Amino acid sequence: METYNQTTDKLNHTQNHRFFRDDEFWRSIPGWQSITSDQFGDYRWQLKNSIASIDKIKELLKHRISDQILEDCKRAFDLFPIDLRITPYIFSLIDWDNPIDDPLRRQFLPLASQFQKNHPFVLKDSLFEEADSPINHLVHRYPDKVLFLALGKCPLYCSYCTRSRLIGGSSRNGRKQSISPGLSDFETMFDYIRSHNQIEDVVISGGDVSLLSSDLIRLIGKTLLDIDHIRRIRYATKSLAVLPMKILSDDDWFRALIEMNEMGRKRDKQVCIHTHFSSPCEISEWSPQAAERFFREGMIVRNQTVFQQGVNTRIDVMGLLIKQLGYMNVQPYYVFLLDMVPGIEHLRTTLRDAAEMEKSMRGLTSGFNIPDFACDLPTGGGKQHVSSYDYYNEETGISVWRSPAVKPGKAFFYFDPVHRLSFDAQQRWKDDKQRILMLREALSHGSPDLNPDPLYGVLV
Ligand code: SF4
Repeated sequence: METYNQTTDKLNHTQNHRFFRDDEFWRSIPGWQSITSDQFGDYRWQLKNSIASIDKIKELLKHRISDQILEDCKRAFDLFPIDLRITPYIFSLIDWDNPIDDPLRRQFLPLASQFQKNHPFVLKDSLFEEADSPINHLVHRYPDKVLFLALGKCPLYCSYCTRSRLIGGSSRNGRKQSISPGLSDFETMFDYIRSHNQIEDVVISGGDVSLLSSDLIRLIGKTLLDIDHIRRIRYATKSLAVLPMKILSDDDWFRALIEMNEMGRKRDKQVCIHTHFSSPCEISEWSPQAAERFFREGMIVRNQTVFQQGVNTRIDVMGLLIKQLGYMNVQPYYVFLLDMVPGIEHLRTTLRDAAEMEKSMRGLTSGFNIPDFACDLPTGGGKQHVSSYDYYNEETGISVWRSPAVKPGKAFFYFDPVHRLSFDAQQRWKDDKQRILMLREALSHGSPDLNPDPLYGVLV
């Protein structure tokens, strides 16, 4: 077996990260054999041909997918809270000769057979965004930053989405409350920001701003840049990874973003893009071309990766992703542990896995291109570095945290997936009384002076 040193050595001495596939890979999908590069490269064709049903998968793949896998997918969407929607770009990058292990299939097309029982402390709103929303569609958790939820749709739905309770409108598990602010909601959100002088930073997200009209990109951007105390705005879009054609072929939308960037610079304010690559398999020649289009216009692009079992938990895979992002002038900024929402236990990792992975990445490339590995703490503690916990018991999988800058006086827990624990620990998690004892024990070692949220039932 290859050792860690051999793997990093290989990463350091190969230039694989400079090469991106540029073949007509979509033609291997039986239903798209005759689709030309011009058609495939048009964002309108991509959106029109998105895959949103199991029947469509069968129709496109024909003999390339077995009835067994189709049935497995179908059962998954009865269990998972997220809707099915995949762009043709990502759908045709999936290795359909080995869909079970494919990292893109794992992220966007769950299989019921891989499902693991939800952790006892999963929450639909794990990050307590609703509790931190002073008004609708605006999350104000950090003192100087707000999250501006502009829409509730994405060109593709990630099965691990932290907002799966809101994104997409409905799923087979029932209708959802959605994020669909109108102009009067936007006015209320702007008024809140205007009247809170400490806010300097606004993340415009949802949802994915690739589905926001160019008029709204301009309206939101200009209104925010007109507020004196706003210094930074970021537009969040996964399109670089899952629909790069949007950047390359929707000129009006692209120009709207660039205009906001130019307007920001004239006022000494920063406008940038935050994107979301998690696997080297998401990157073909289209993505670096899209990143280059932003770069040439002086737009900063940063990336947030989600750390997922079987997607990017191998050192060579994470290393390649980080090097590819740096090569594309996309700054690898964060790698997040998965938030504790329903339906994602099979993708979650342990805290130790994340800390070890970060250690393995240090020194691989320039320090500013090494992402921070972070845990967004359940119940609203905000993002903390994976090594900044007060206490971590790898036997019970419980870590205890504090977040003095965000919620002083409150303790927070994060939990490793139960199926990764020892048999004894798994048995303890099944027993309510043992669970409380484990939490109390962790709290007494970690933050004995602080209380966690009452939902854990261990107030001191
Ligand atoms: S792109 Fe973001 S908001 Fe949309 S489904 Fe994925 S994680 Fe959720």
